Amino acid sequence: MKIKTKVIGVDITLNYTTCAVIDIRGTIWGKDSFAMTDYPDVNNFVSMLCERIVKLAEDHGGFENIRSVGVSAPSSNFKTGCVENASNLSWKGVVPLAAMLRDRLGVAVAVGNDAHVAALGERAYGSAHGMENFLVMTFTEGGVGSSLFLNGRVHLGTDGFSGEIGHTIVAENGRQCGCGHKGCLETYVSILGIVQNLRDLLEESDEPSMARNIENLNAQSLVLCCQQGDKLALEAVNRAGRILGRAVANYCSALNPEAVILSGDILKVIDWMLPVLRETVDENVFHNLRGRVRLLASLLEPEERTVLGAGALAWEVPEYSLFK
Ligand SMILES: [Zn+2]
Repeated sequence: MKIKTKVIGVDITLNYTTCAVIDIRGTIWGKDSFAMTDYPDVNNFVSMLCERIVKLAEDHGGFENIRSVGVSAPSSNFKTGCVENASNLSWKGVVPLAAMLRDRLGVAVAVGNDAHVAALGERAYGSAHGMENFLVMTFTEGGVGSSLFLNGRVHLGTDGFSGEIGHTIVAENGRQCGCGHKGCLETYVSILGIVQNLRDLLEESDEPSMARNIENLNAQSLVLCCQQGDKLALEAVNRAGRILGRAVANYCSALNPEAVILSGDILKVIDWMLPVLRETVDENVFHNLRGRVRLLASLLEPEERTVLGAGALAWEVPEYSLFK
């Protein structure tokens, strides 16, 4: 039997789906992507995805070389292989995505959510290489996800929903979160949360700020203000750094990881945030861990991070093939 040396990683986001042929070292051999807007119906989506995967496989030696497929999708559950009630995708209910793809492609398929996949990617090819215990926090524009990698494996939780650090409550009667609760971490420390910090500061103080002349403050204008050394913008970032620092300290006190890896949109402001973040972590973490918490930035390219992680996930499913 020929040893299969490649997998296919698929990254499904709200706007685009990307698939790539990846070898065991994490080298991407070929890549393809398509817009999600044309596929509100999941059956049409799966047909298009299979078409693209088959083409990619054929361009790289055929399915004789492809061991399995790993998919990152929002609200998906590795244990069931399903996308479950994704709030932002147009597919409703429980979609058995892994089974649908496996039936059509004839190879093993694993499905995981973006945080789960991020942890596998960081461990296989990124900042967590060789680590047994670490935490990855993934920042999107408005959200904060995380994955707990404990004792050499991803900790999924009883129902596969572990890692919702973004929805831990950090303020009593705080900001309204999309999840229905008030005071969730992500409403303060995601990029949009930091933009809101800046809006609050503009109201609270009379300090001059270039942000006062910007009509629609967004992530880009926040970064621009920080680059110009705007005091209030930097304070908005520091405010987030203190809140995030306490959250990280709490998780480290509970889990004692080797490192916390930060990835995604937070890296746009991390240079300004890092001193306060480190200081707050050390002030609040259990004393035996003080000075020992490693905060690392993800080393993976943002456009490749998830697809590489999905590739790493593909190696986790038992091999199955109709092509033997
Ligand atoms: Zn929430």
